[in-house]
Amino acid sequence: MELVNLTRRTEIGSNSYWMCVGGKNIILDAGLHPKLEGLAAIPDFSRVPEGKVDVIFVTHAHQDHVGGLPVLTRREPQARVFMTEQTARIADVMLHNSVNVMTRQREDDGITEYPLFTHRGVDFCAQAWHTRPVGRRCNLLGEASDDDAEVTFEFFDAGHILGSVGILFRYKGRTIFYTGDVNFENQTLMQGASFPEEGVDVLIMETTRGDSPVPPGFSRANEEDRLVRGIRRAFESGGSVTIPVFALGKTQELLAMLWNMRIRGLLAHVPIYIGGLSTKITGIYDALADTSIRSHPELQLLQEMAPYVLSGNEVNTVAPRKKCIFALSSGMMTEHTLSNIFCRKVLGDANQSLFFVGYSDPESPAGRIRRAAQDAPVSLDPDSSPIPLRCHIEEFQFSAHASRETLRNYALLLKPSKVLLVHGDRPAIDWFQLALFKELTKTEVIVPEPGKPVKLG
Ligand SMILES: [Zn+2]
Ligand SMILES: [Zn+2]
Repeated sequence: MELVNLTRRTEIGSNSYWMCVGGKNIILDAGLHPKLEGLAAIPDFSRVPEGKVDVIFVTHAHQDHVGGLPVLTRREPQARVFMTEQTARIADVMLHNSVNVMTRQREDDGITEYPLFTHRGVDFCAQAWHTRPVGRRCNLLGEASDDDAEVTFEFFDAGHILGSVGILFRYKGRTIFYTGDVNFENQTLMQGASFPEEGVDVLIMETTRGDSPVPPGFSRANEEDRLVRGIRRAFESGGSVTIPVFALGKTQELLAMLWNMRIRGLLAHVPIYIGGLSTKITGIYDALADTSIRSHPELQLLQEMAPYVLSGNEVNTVAPRKKCIFALSSGMMTEHTLSNIFCRKVLGDANQSLFFVGYSDPESPAGRIRRAAQDAPVSLDPDSSPIPLRCHIEEFQFSAHASRETLRNYALLLKPSKVLLVHGDRPAIDWFQLALFKELTKTEVIVPEPGKPVKLG
């Protein structure tokens, strides 16, 4: 059993790992890098002999896990692709949207390698997808099996976004568990992960939040209280609230939080604006509400919250009206996205509020705003002039990723013979490496360097 990291650098980036188990070539995830452009944004699939992949697994539909899938399946048309039904529904929307984004980037930014795939390419890719539910043990043909002489897989709910799973592989008495992206605590919609609690020999673990300790006294309930107070204060001073959010996951959690505040009598029904992609994905959350493991399965977000759908054209003309919430993607306010364009009208206005509810890369426009001093000029886009930062800024922590403490405790509970640390920037991985090295003396803690094979046992 062996694993090769197919990413190009040790960072969150574009996830993909090649495992060889029982003579089968298995790929875990096939992401697209959120910050890199062109072919460099895709994992290095050329490290795998072409045409030899048996199976591909997609843990969930975020771009850093699924965005490179059509490129991989074009190279490996014989491979079966397994994911949950929820992930398949969302991935289809995300990948078609990605074609549109890449086509625009080709025109606007002159990236000639784009689009890396077409709408037809996405449809072709989707023909290889097979959906399996959480809790069913299957062989690599997708047939129910508990035969230990063949490689089998089983999905476990990961509590990160709709459809997200960790995957347990079993073969000849040995087990490998890949967490994908995980959250052990309940969010407003997603319930915490239900992962195996024993019998894991090799743990492949995400490390996203390894360099951010949980602040003393932190609780999600306190953060929600702060958020509702922040919104009320912003409205009382006659402004609007803009919240940059990811279209997938954070938008739906935010809508559910606002609904929760309303039914608890903490916030009136306020106009909410979201983008077109967010609306499509929220529709999938609603359609699959009673088939998913989540809180409030009866809650239909689009019906209850009735958000206004803001198109790419309208965002130029809509003003930040009083007592409205603009929950626009992208979460990091990447150039040309709704949140980036809309914020030009917000940033320099002391009456307006801008709230951050999740992680921003320090080099992204959202990261630059969060680091900027009051009145300092901030550049949102290289094509437009910097704007002095005058709006009111607040930061909240509603991460969809496990805290480093809960992930460390999970590894301590399992006591695997090997832990592979993935999906983290270097400081995050360093923290886990040290923490686990100290406390798991019989465990080999490994950081799989790009391209270098790691023996799994
Ligand atoms: Zn994710
Ligand atoms: Zn991820």
